[in-house]
Amino acid sequence: MDNDILKVLYSQNEIKEACERLGKQIQKEYEGKTPVVIGVLKGAVFFMADIVRAADTYMQMDFIDVSSYHGGTKSSGEVELVTDITLDVAGRDVLIIEDIVDTGQTLKFLMDTFANRGANSIKVCTLLDKPAGRLVEANSDFIGFEVPNEFVVGYGLDYDEKYRNLPYIGVLKPKIYSHN
Ligand code: 5GP
Repeated sequence: MDNDILKVLYSQNEIKEACERLGKQIQKEYEGKTPVVIGVLKGAVFFMADIVRAADTYMQMDFIDVSSYHGGTKSSGEVELVTDITLDVAGRDVLIIEDIVDTGQTLKFLMDTFANRGANSIKVCTLLDKPAGRLVEANSDFIGFEVPNEFVVGYGLDYDEKYRNLPYIGVLKPKIYSHN
């Protein structure tokens, strides 16, 4: 996989430090509460695993799967619920864990969904924020890194379902896209 990467944006060490920083912020934010922490499949799995272990606070965890990309590098704009959470969020403090916020459509869909279900509060922690891609307003409360408007892979983020297991975050060589 290493040979397919044009440049590394964030090393394993930089990601680890960001997770520890965010974990401590989350710990402080939810002291005395038990939030429902909801990871967005599949991209946020590694990030969620690392930040929850950096936050020494009670929490319940769940996962939701939504789709908007259908395997390409550009968002289709429509967000569909693929697999729902199992916990009831009514009256609960919800913390959404995202891998990346680009157009903001996925995040807006999730925030609207949990607001409609009566969540008491909704906050967002994203590993990566790509503000240049924003089409709808959707702000995160905890952000790992602000990324340039490039398609990134690794540490959960895929291209055609591959590269999720890359331990760092990088940009693919253009020839990888042209093969498809
Ligand atoms: P949005 O709805 O904000 O446009 O996109 C959110 C989702 O699109 C993310 O959860 C992620 O799955 C995908 N996405 C957006 N930008 C990128 C990117 O640069 N790389 C990868 N691999 N996925 C992205």
